[in-house]
Amino acid sequence: AAVIVAIDGPAGTGKSSTSKAVAAKLGLGYLDTGAQYRAITWWMLSNGVDVDDAVAVADASVKPAIVSGTDPAAPTITVDGLDAAGPIRTQEVTSAVSAVSAVPEVRTRITELQREIAAGAPEGIVVEGRDIGSTVLPDADLKIFLTASPEARAARRSGELTGKEAADLAATREALVKRDAADSSRKTSPLAKAADAVEVDTTDLTLEQVIECVVTLTEA
Ligand code: C5P
Repeated sequence: AAVIVAIDGPAGTGKSSTSKAVAAKLGLGYLDTGAQYRAITWWMLSNGVDVDDAVAVADASVKPAIVSGTDPAAPTITVDGLDAAGPIRTQEVTSAVSAVSAVPEVRTRITELQREIAAGAPEGIVVEGRDIGSTVLPDADLKIFLTASPEARAARRSGELTGKEAADLAATREALVKRDAADSSRKTSPLAKAADAVEVDTTDLTLEQVIECVVTLTEA
């Protein structure tokens, strides 16, 4: 039977690196749900939708066609046929994504896409996000909730950034903490650990150790 693994947690805990590696090792698909929320946010910004106007965002939420490629070795994301992999990582999108993803109509739309993709994965899939174990795939075979100290998370994120942004560790930490607070306090499916999720604190673990831990739990 297909294996469904849900990996949730705040930003900078190593969700993406862990999820991709676990999927590759186990021959499963991989879905980055943050990329989907970033993609719809990028579309809103590109099409003049005021991201702080929840009604406007809700009305526009059905318009963009968002398609995710689930090969863990080369995940892709397109919006209306355009490659969105680069544009969804800009500071502008990162700053706006929490507001857009708090709109219930956006979550309904993206959650539907996620369930379709998971149901269509022949061997199964590793799905990473904030509400996968709690809301999107409550029947997942394994639920992991990754955590790490704010310092560790800021240092890791900073390593992914370049130039001036990377240098500003304090600003990175502040932005991360702010985004977690927004993601955790929204009314619809907030960032939350499912009751039956296994919590893994990655603060003092290497990426290899986290991957090993999740693979072992999947095979158990
Ligand atoms: O994982 P990443 O940092 O790319 O996620 C970007 C944003 O997308 C999060 O800060 C959150 O606002 C939103 N998100 C969400 N639910 C998910 C995944 C991401 O609301 N399952």
